[in-house]
Amino acid sequence: MNHLDTHALQVLDAAHHLHPFNDNAALAKRGTRILTKGEGVYVWDSEGNKLLDAFAGLWCVNIGYGRKELGEVASKQMTQLAYYNSFFSCTTEPTVRLAAKLAELCPGDLNHVFFSNSGSEANDTILRMVRHFWAVQGQPKKNVFIGRLNGYHGSTVAGASLGGMKGMHAMGGLPIPDIVHINQPYWFGEGGDLSPEEFGLQRARELEDKILELGPDRVAAFIGEPIQGAAGVFIPPMNYWPEIERICRKYDVLLVADEVICGFGRTGHWFASEYFGIQPDIMTLAKGITSGYIPLGAVMFNDRISKVLMEKGGELAHGYTYSGHPVCTAVALENIRILEEEKMVENIQANTGPYLAKRWAELGEHPLVGEARLVGMVGALELVPRKPSREYFPDRGAVGQMCRDFALRNGLILRATNDAMLLSPPLIITRDQIDEMFDKAWKSLDQTAAALGIGKVAA
Ligand SMILES: *Cc1c(COP(=O)(O)O)cnc(C)c1O
Repeated sequence: MNHLDTHALQVLDAAHHLHPFNDNAALAKRGTRILTKGEGVYVWDSEGNKLLDAFAGLWCVNIGYGRKELGEVASKQMTQLAYYNSFFSCTTEPTVRLAAKLAELCPGDLNHVFFSNSGSEANDTILRMVRHFWAVQGQPKKNVFIGRLNGYHGSTVAGASLGGMKGMHAMGGLPIPDIVHINQPYWFGEGGDLSPEEFGLQRARELEDKILELGPDRVAAFIGEPIQGAAGVFIPPMNYWPEIERICRKYDVLLVADEVICGFGRTGHWFASEYFGIQPDIMTLAKGITSGYIPLGAVMFNDRISKVLMEKGGELAHGYTYSGHPVCTAVALENIRILEEEKMVENIQANTGPYLAKRWAELGEHPLVGEARLVGMVGALELVPRKPSREYFPDRGAVGQMCRDFALRNGLILRATNDAMLLSPPLIITRDQIDEMFDKAWKSLDQTAAALGIGKVAA
């Protein structure tokens, strides 16, 4: 194969490829970065730059890049049986084995799975499955979903409607009917003078207010990310989720935990629901389920829902061509085998998690950082003009972008959302690599502060 050089690829990309979540005109002018290789926590671009990917692709490359076993399993499955559907009363061995494995891994009685190709599709499935669940029990009006402002549940029509991103709603006339939103548990930005605990309870009780306003016989389910990822890694106070769970139980509203980012070890637990001490009725899975090596999503649901669907549901009028694709499920099994055998979750708890927490807190001492929050391997630094005040920069987002660009030039990939720097590295990151991340992040913060003329910057 004749490799095209960077410029030739950029020209073709600008001419033919519309990028998700981008200002495509600006991107075409700037030129896309072309990634060529990955190994462990590092990726390389076509200009030969080696970058520490402290964002794991897009929150997903949990076991790190370059694990040959996953490619070998995919190749073997493709050669033996590349595809068969799950529609015609059929299935395949890796799909059955993954279903059983997920039932074993997921907390409580989340013993049943429906496969999709992505997190968005899984949430579309949940919307229809839950409405059907209530309808076949004689409660067709119990169809309203409550989500949260700035929640992210994907980019399909149902996913974006369940999510609470105003910019996404503006494109295409969303949300669809019977989806409403309450406020988010974002203490740093919205907690004012309340303590995190007071604020956590207050925000959770908005759910009760909303249920009472609509009537409990109208509310089908509440959906939320245990930790809001795309919004900016909003980690709720510890009393938030137990209160949400209590309210859901009181009014018989199904509790849906979207664990697409949080699942598969991200928080130092297999699932964040375990970290927060809640038992959801339904869980959304994707991303870390295959460490991003191949697309796959899943809906986990409990015995109660399964029983109703089995006894009263009739024919399930829903499915994707690639639901339970054997290559994807085989890769997921291998990914989970590696996570388990190499004790990645345990290692975060006992070793790298506490070390990262210590170094992350040190970054919090930088004059530009108003808050450094973290759980396990997911966190954020809030950049502020005048700490300890929690006020924002006037031109929201510009400083975050500047810091992100400095980081890239320093060989570090962090994501910027508004003026928060987001961290979500591969779970295999070592202490030495955490130190490297720290040095590069500190340097980038210094450069940003210097460009803004903020603070005394002593390294
Ligand atoms: C990424 C994400 C999704 C959407 O998953 P896709 O695979 O991109 O469709 C849904 N929920 C959460 C919490 C996510 O972070």
